[in-house]
Amino acid sequence: MDDKKKNDIEKNKEEFESVCDKEVDGENIEICFICHKKFDINKDDESYYRHGKYPMCAYCAEFYGYYR
Ligand SMILES: [Zn+2]
Repeated sequence: MDDKKKNDIEKNKEEFESVCDKEVDGENIEICFICHKKFDINKDDESYYRHGKYPMCAYCAEFYGYYR
């Protein structure tokens, strides 16, 4: 692998990591858009992004599960 290519890969990696700065140690703290409780969307099994956009905690996801 030539040096230029290697540098490009390193640069992309740095950019990628800076984008992911919000996620620390696999945690992704979000605020539930229904009850405004903070939760780790990576941790709770039931939690998910409603419409791929609005974070919903495990409790609300279960409660409103049938709307899914
Ligand atoms: Zn909630």
